[in-house]
Amino acid sequence: MQGEMAQTRGSAGKLLSIIVPVLDEEETIALFLGECVPMLEALRHGVFAGGDYEVVFVDDGSTDATPLAIHTASLSNPRLKLVRLSRNFGKEAALAAGFLHASGDAVIPMDVDLQDPPEVVPRMIEEWRRGADIVNAVRRSRGGDSAFKRWTARGFYRLYNRIADVPIRPDVGDFRLLDRAVVDTLNRLSEGSRFTKALYSWVGFRNVDIDYDRTGRSAGTTKWRYGKLFRFAIDGFIASTTVPLRIWSGLGLLLGAVAVIWGIFIIVKTIIYGADQPGYASTMVAILFLGALNLLSLGILGEYVGRIAQEVRNRPLFVVRETLGIDPRHARRRGPDDARE
Ligand code: UDP
Ligand code: MG
Repeated sequence: MQGEMAQTRGSAGKLLSIIVPVLDEEETIALFLGECVPMLEALRHGVFAGGDYEVVFVDDGSTDATPLAIHTASLSNPRLKLVRLSRNFGKEAALAAGFLHASGDAVIPMDVDLQDPPEVVPRMIEEWRRGADIVNAVRRSRGGDSAFKRWTARGFYRLYNRIADVPIRPDVGDFRLLDRAVVDTLNRLSEGSRFTKALYSWVGFRNVDIDYDRTGRSAGTTKWRYGKLFRFAIDGFIASTTVPLRIWSGLGLLLGAVAVIWGIFIIVKTIIYGADQPGYASTMVAILFLGALNLLSLGILGEYVGRIAQEVRNRPLFVVRETLGIDPRHARRRGPDDARE
């Protein structure tokens, strides 16, 4: 049990899982392993003495030789494992698959492009050993990201944190260490449209921050287009807030009140002064404005109703095609069927 006071953890007999979602990354796998494996081996003689590691690749429906590259690498290192999804389900779902198939006492999701620098991992382990349940790697800089991407990211976090119940840490990606207790909690969550960033802060536990400099991609190209990022931001809002849904009732009430007062004013005016021609413009403006508002609120309702429909269908977050190196007992216990429990 984890008390209020910082408790230290031993590393003997413990397992560290690195989860790596990959989509069409044949040229980055070797670079990644070249940097990551020596670091992981060194850990076993350093801060993670007596412990062991596994690297669980989640192939998110690659169409190139990515699975083959992982398979080849695993022949000389049995600690490299693979979960192959049946198609591209997106990074969030791939991470969920990784969390379910990882058996580590500490779990760290990492991008394969070395934008999450392996040298930060030993520092994370140190904090975990000191008792942290979640170690957030905070980006001090966002090297390799365009000014526009940085600017939109900052805007997103600011807006999100203003309206969401549980704020999320800006400048922390998926790169963080999660204790087994946190991973088990994440695995129990059944949300279909996942916004993992918000879930990390929703689960709570003892958080510790460390910072690092984010560099550009080692090779290959980013798999995120701006359209996809925009979708991702909308998902973020809809998945963990109901504010967009609720503001319209308030605004509607206010506008309704204004309309009633205005209506009474016009009726009284007509009774006293008789009907007159003007007013056409203001009527049109009011109709158009309210019409627009109606459509907008309908759209927002649609977003939520669509999400409800998705949840009701209760489809799994992902489908596993095959696994490599994953303990079958483990895989059965945490198979795709109980991915949503
Ligand atoms: N990725 C994935 N599925 C996707 C998109 C990306 O598994 O649909 C993986 C990708 O292979 C990489 C990580 O997610 O390991 C981060 O992707 P990327 O570097 O393209 O994103 P960025 O760093 O530009 O945000
Ligand atoms: Mg990247």
